[in-house]
Amino acid sequence: SIKGQYKKYFACYDDVLRRRLLLEQEIVDGMEPALAAGQFEIYLQPKYRIADRQMVGAEALVRWNHPKWGLQSPAAFIPLFERNGFITGLDQYVWDRACAVLRDWRERGLPSVPISVNVSRADIYNMDLAGILTGLLQRHGLPPSSLHLEITESAYTENPQQIIDTVSQLRRLGFVIEMDDFGSGYSSLHMLHKMPVDILKLDMKFIQSEPVTPVNQEIMKFVINLAHLMKLGVVAEGVETAEQLERLRVIGCECVQGYYFAQPMPVGEFERLLAENTGGRELRRGYPAGIQ
Ligand code: C2E
Ligand code: MG
Ligand code: MG
Ligand code: MG
Repeated sequence: SIKGQYKKYFACYDDVLRRRLLLEQEIVDGMEPALAAGQFEIYLQPKYRIADRQMVGAEALVRWNHPKWGLQSPAAFIPLFERNGFITGLDQYVWDRACAVLRDWRERGLPSVPISVNVSRADIYNMDLAGILTGLLQRHGLPPSSLHLEITESAYTENPQQIIDTVSQLRRLGFVIEMDDFGSGYSSLHMLHKMPVDILKLDMKFIQSEPVTPVNQEIMKFVINLAHLMKLGVVAEGVETAEQLERLRVIGCECVQGYYFAQPMPVGEFERLLAENTGGRELRRGYPAGIQ
């Protein structure tokens, strides 16, 4: 009977919901101890300049090394942490780890690139961002220009004036601001015009949208031209193929981030990649001729 079917549906729905709530509760119970136990780890994903294939930066992306569930990607916990407020604590931890990496490169005399960290909208509205970040860099003895701040596009719509004020202040202090996920749905060109940012990160849906049409290509070209007109740098996210890279190159996009070049990776692995990038001759010295 129809009634029976509904019952089954609700029973099933109930079960899914209950399991989800239990899982969420387990995550919430575990987050503070996990932070204290060092279970959160940063991975670095390189950004490359298309013209000469030089690595010009890296994005720090958090992973949760969970004792029971293994390595967890941000999608599994960031949205929850954004809702319950834990994100502000986790982000400060991530920024601190990124600074520790930058300082370590300096102290060991290794090649270095600026590291971009993600800033949640909660960080902007609920903390003294400029004070905290300045204090952090001072503690690590780093210039503000070594840390780039990625602020997702959707954050700009909520309270534009407060964001404009915070971002202006951060830029005056020397931080580089990247507008993340541009084109993912909330932005207007008007907003972009008003926002004091340095770099535009094109959302991956731009480059990944299928099928590729002349109109798509023209839209991307238009956005990139506009960014350049406003003296902004452009980084395209989610570049996975040589064709996508070529399409970006011909319309004047200067930098890319994506699986085509490299996935996010542990810091140690990233250091080896960076050494090959700018200090490759050093690394290969001593190898017999012909072996690269
Ligand atoms: P995002 O800031 O836009 O970061 C880029 C995401 O795209 C990363 O996912 C990266 O692994 C992924 N990606 C890079 N290249 C490619 C590609 O070629 N193809 C595809 N399909 N994906 C690519 P990830 O690491 O899973 O992070 C997801 C999101 O979680 C981030 O998006 C960011 O919004 C958030 N997130 C990550 N770490 C942090 C953090 O420390 N703090 C905060 N607040 N958010 C974070
Ligand atoms: Mg980002
Ligand atoms: Mg994002
Ligand atoms: Mg993004």
